[in-house]
Amino acid sequence: MHFVPAHDPVWTSAADGLAPPQPRANALLTLAQWQAACAGWPAELPVGLLLDNTVDVGALGALLEGVALVVLHFPKWTDGRAYSQARLLHSRVGYQGRLRAAGDVIVDMLPLLQRNGFDEVQLRAGQSEFEARRALHYFAGHYQDDVARTPVTDDPERAARLRPALARRGQASLAGRARRTPGFEQRVAQALHLLRQAAAAHPGRIVQATSLGVEGMVITDLIARHGLPVDVATLDTGALHAETLALLPAIEQRYGIRVERFAPRPLDVQRFVHEHGALAMRRSVELRQACCALRKLEPMQRLLQGRDAWITGLRREQSEHRAQVPLQEVDGDGRSKYYPLAHWSEADVWHYVHLHEVPYNLLHDQGFPSIGCQPCTRAVAPGEDFRAGRWWWEQDGQRECGLHSRPQPLAA
Ligand code: SF4
Repeated sequence: MHFVPAHDPVWTSAADGLAPPQPRANALLTLAQWQAACAGWPAELPVGLLLDNTVDVGALGALLEGVALVVLHFPKWTDGRAYSQARLLHSRVGYQGRLRAAGDVIVDMLPLLQRNGFDEVQLRAGQSEFEARRALHYFAGHYQDDVARTPVTDDPERAARLRPALARRGQASLAGRARRTPGFEQRVAQALHLLRQAAAAHPGRIVQATSLGVEGMVITDLIARHGLPVDVATLDTGALHAETLALLPAIEQRYGIRVERFAPRPLDVQRFVHEHGALAMRRSVELRQACCALRKLEPMQRLLQGRDAWITGLRREQSEHRAQVPLQEVDGDGRSKYYPLAHWSEADVWHYVHLHEVPYNLLHDQGFPSIGCQPCTRAVAPGEDFRAGRWWWEQDGQRECGLHSRPQPLAA
């Protein structure tokens, strides 16, 4: 990762209002300036592009040909849209030039920037380059290629095709999904009561294992809002969407709590990808389960180590396989497992999010009700099953990763 000083001596902006600007080497242009100038720009003069985080980079196409540098702007460090732009530029648009993060860029963002394919950063004033380098070094042993440069298989064309239907059904917006139904307040009170009981029963040894899906966000909000002594942890499989990863700083800033992260062992992933390829999970159920085992199940064991109890956001309504989840049970390893949202409906979850302005994964607005790893998740059509977008190429089975295998009843 290259660190660019606050006043970049190499790349300099063209004066505002000059349209088209005069060609010169290492000019940094806004999109409007470049649109006006690109037709007559000499190929030998390197040009850079400054993009707001509202620009649809997927639509830039030929405008990026010959662009040597794209600068993506973070107006706030909690705003994750530039991560998504970076991922799209590399994986879908095929942009080959350098990518810089600028604006409200702080030290904590460095590992995430690197994983999303940024080549260089311009830190916010007052941020220490020394600390930033340390943050990168701390995560230097990361276990796989950048997420941004991993082939994307979540079918963006399908998501685009589904968008009008989602909008018509009101499912493309938070307000459209949120609905207050009778008994909502009681269900919130029951969930909170269960969480309080669980925290009291396992002092210092209970954790919420969140996938950062919307149910997990509701539980984290309940825990933080009521100051419950429960740790919050997640699995960073190394294959998550940028939109999912962007929730980590958002949670930490909003609630002032630390989310513990558990990643797969680097060598396991490298060996697996080397032997079977990055998209091995598509070739057979066995390979898919092997991938889930090393990216999810093994880190989950470490997440639960030293803990007596855990909390998850599974709901009965989500699938046939989950239709029987109780409020509480003992898992196969003898730990207490709590399901505070077992009785909640999808409308309840979104009503709670709406009411309390809980941060959530923006993929939910694009037709992703259930969000897992990027290569194994896609948007679903209105009316399709909640889990239809997970491992959709598999015909049979429960399409679960094994994290929530329920204890089997003893034979009589
Ligand atoms: S969901 Fe897909 S990428 Fe993630 S661990 Fe399972 S098989 Fe691997």
